[in-house]
Amino acid sequence: MRDVIVLELEPAIGGTSRSGTAYPWGAHYIIAPSAENRVLARLLEEIGVMRGGEIGEEFLVRDPEERLFYRGRWYEGLYLHAGASAEDQRQLRAFEAEMEKWRQRRAFTIPVAYCSDDAEVTALDRISMAGWLDAHGFTSPRLRWFVEYACRDDYGSLLDDTSAWAGVFYFASRGERPTITWPEGNGRLVAHLGRFARVRTGWLVTNITPTDASAEVIAVRGDEAIGIHARRVIFAAPQFIARYVIPSRETSPEFTYGSWMVANLFLRDRPGELAWDNVLYDSPSLGYVTATHQRGIDHGPTTLTYYYPLCDHDVHRGREKLLATGRDEWADVALTDLARAHPNIRELTQRIDVMRWGHAMVRPRPGFVWSNARRTASRPFGAVHFANTDLSAVPLFEEALYHGVRAAEEVLAIKTSWL
Ligand SMILES: Cc1cc2nc3c(=O)[nH]c(=O)nc-3n(C[C@H](O)[C@H](O)[C@H](O)COP(=O)(O)OP(=O)(O)OC[C@H]3O[C@@H](n4cnc5c(N)ncnc54)[C@H](O)[C@@H]3O)c2cc1C
Repeated sequence: MRDVIVLELEPAIGGTSRSGTAYPWGAHYIIAPSAENRVLARLLEEIGVMRGGEIGEEFLVRDPEERLFYRGRWYEGLYLHAGASAEDQRQLRAFEAEMEKWRQRRAFTIPVAYCSDDAEVTALDRISMAGWLDAHGFTSPRLRWFVEYACRDDYGSLLDDTSAWAGVFYFASRGERPTITWPEGNGRLVAHLGRFARVRTGWLVTNITPTDASAEVIAVRGDEAIGIHARRVIFAAPQFIARYVIPSRETSPEFTYGSWMVANLFLRDRPGELAWDNVLYDSPSLGYVTATHQRGIDHGPTTLTYYYPLCDHDVHRGREKLLATGRDEWADVALTDLARAHPNIRELTQRIDVMRWGHAMVRPRPGFVWSNARRTASRPFGAVHFANTDLSAVPLFEEALYHGVRAAEEVLAIKTSWL
């Protein structure tokens, strides 16, 4: 099917996977596909990241991959081993064994649609990750920090506000599969996908009126307006927007979205040795990713992408804070935070660009992942099909890809009857 048009509100496509020339604005990595994720494997073969089922070495995160800053020093990895007591270590091993158990059961995989819907597995969604850790006697502060870091990193939420299903999913679904990344992050994937479509940027879709056989679409750009009579529409924006654009459809209020601030710092030189992912233990931020890491040059100018999720329990309050804080204040937050690890960061930084993502990520709150609201939201509404990562409850590129392909296949199946 070639008579397809993509209407995108922003000046560039990609949403939260957008990038600058050689740095990400949001998503910056994916996990290598599991055997069942054939759609992702095919995409990676198409763009030359995988050849004959093997991932090219240059796309795998090179060493040093991750490090943690704690009381004046960097430590390898994201679990704070230094100073861990025997009890801390016992709990870490017990946690790892618990995750291994779920892995062996193959209950969790990416995409979510292929995960087990066994009652014992979905029951995890009824409690928070904090509750799950409590129930298992996981009291070690550094273990809880480590697990909460994972929740903040992938979901922008704290242990209390994350479904235990999502918490376990983070560790059990990726297994030992490696991380794939590019200097510009997942913008590399967006650039590839964008080549296949007739893209019209700057168009805000304001209204979609579906019937069973077709849909009327209205879009505006500045003073211009267009109406499109479409046989089918794939609505790839999040559900909170569907509420306004397709008013005849009921949209569940159970979809909630947290906000993030991302800053790109352009440095004339490095503040010392860098890893790919650099995390500060005592910080509300997630630290930074070195955009130039994959280039294999460990000296000279670089770009650091700094991530700050607003993890407030009340997502509206988080969004208000995000938007009430201006560019200069956010730049100062990033510099002050990083100065603890890199005292000369202000001298080295030549420019800072800031992105405020209001509805950055769907939040996998307890009870939401296996809710009816979530599972029924991907059903077509007349001639409108739905495709966005929020339909999976977990914000991952792989989930967005899965829903995009699923929706396209739904349309293609109907198209056969037009012929
Ligand atoms: C800071 C951050 C870091 C992340 N890091 C990672 C990561 O490392 N790895 C990973 O896998 N995932 C990551 N994610 C999540 C990942 O970015 C998303 O899951 C994925 O990109 C979502 O894609 P999407 O197309 O479903 O939705 P979106 O990114 O929400 O895209 C929706 C698009 O619809 C457009 N739109 C909305 N309304 C309208 C309208 N009315 N008319 C026209 N256009 C409209 C928007 O402008 C946008 O381009 C991150 C997300 C954020 C915010």
